[in-house]
Amino acid sequence: MTLVSSLSWTDKDLGLYLHIPFCRVRCAYCDFATDLEKTGERQLFLKSLTEEIERLPKSTQPLRSIYFGGGTPSLLTVAEISQIFSVISKNYSLDKNTEISLEANPEGLNEDKLAGYMQAGVNRISIGIQSLNGPELKFLARGHLLEENLRALEMLKDKGINYNLDLMIGIPKQDQNSFMRTLIQVLAYRPAHISSYLLSIEEDAPWFEQVKSGKIKVADDDLMATLYQQMQFFLSDQGYKQYEISAFSLPGKECIHNLGYWKHQNWIGAGPSAASWLAPLRWQNPSGFKEWINCQKFPDKGPEYTTLSQADSVLEKIMLQFRLLEGIPVQVYTNLHCIYPELELGSRMQRLIQLELVEVTQTHYRIPATAVLLSNRVFQEYLS
Ligand code: SF4
Repeated sequence: MTLVSSLSWTDKDLGLYLHIPFCRVRCAYCDFATDLEKTGERQLFLKSLTEEIERLPKSTQPLRSIYFGGGTPSLLTVAEISQIFSVISKNYSLDKNTEISLEANPEGLNEDKLAGYMQAGVNRISIGIQSLNGPELKFLARGHLLEENLRALEMLKDKGINYNLDLMIGIPKQDQNSFMRTLIQVLAYRPAHISSYLLSIEEDAPWFEQVKSGKIKVADDDLMATLYQQMQFFLSDQGYKQYEISAFSLPGKECIHNLGYWKHQNWIGAGPSAASWLAPLRWQNPSGFKEWINCQKFPDKGPEYTTLSQADSVLEKIMLQFRLLEGIPVQVYTNLHCIYPELELGSRMQRLIQLELVEVTQTHYRIPATAVLLSNRVFQEYLS
């Protein structure tokens, strides 16, 4: 019996993440587990992904969500996405509430492909727009231009698709005016959901050395904070609710898949770098394509499993829930404090309230919207 099959986990609300590791260009700021596709890799990938999905733990309940992330899932053809769906349907049940998202880049999406994906089962698109400013897009060199962004947004709006768009804050040369113009323009397409990311150049990203040496200047912390607050005010004024640090949605259009992560629900993942969490067990696939393929060939030598202690699991749950703007119910927090007095949750909370990093509403402890950018300070309080 494997470690996973010996678990008595609850299979309600299970999410499935699929990592598609290919991109058409390698963006200079990106450190994701992704690469340009080499000859023959696609077939090998699809075969190994199929085998991995077949080996994943099963659920008696319909999946809560499926998320095709990457990388660039929209590089896959409709036939390839359908092929993955047929493996999923053989192994899991879905129902009308199962949210099925697929990340797409504007340049790879056309009407036929979009219609094919939706027919295959996708019911939500997440599109990497980043900006509607030509020079900013050119600087990011993502392989798509302003015209392609506009064409993709037009198409999604015309077809009435439920979609998210990604925006980036802190692009070199971005300022309050250019960001405001992007915000005003994207809202004309009335996306159901907007995700915003602060540009951060990690060590594995091609830009890292140039940013470190000052050759490329990304926005400083003050400008990032100004742009972020500008977005908070504007989107809230336009009827979007911020429900997580980086996520805004129209009423009822929150991302079910990501909510699962933040609510510490179970998920399983397949593909390079994909992680899984079936409480109390966590494991993560190797991020390199070859290493992941090897891991599929020799499943016994698969990823390393970590069993989280109950105390660590509680601290993690609190941190994740603080990512949500609604925060954590006072009752839940108090119960955890009574069950795990050794975690000293009461004194941690007192410190955060004194520092005005957390406020108490009638029902919840939460990070005030004005302090969201300081949330790392809150998370640090629960790191040990
Ligand atoms: S930013 Fe997106 S499109 Fe660019 S390399 Fe990374 S995953 Fe690929």
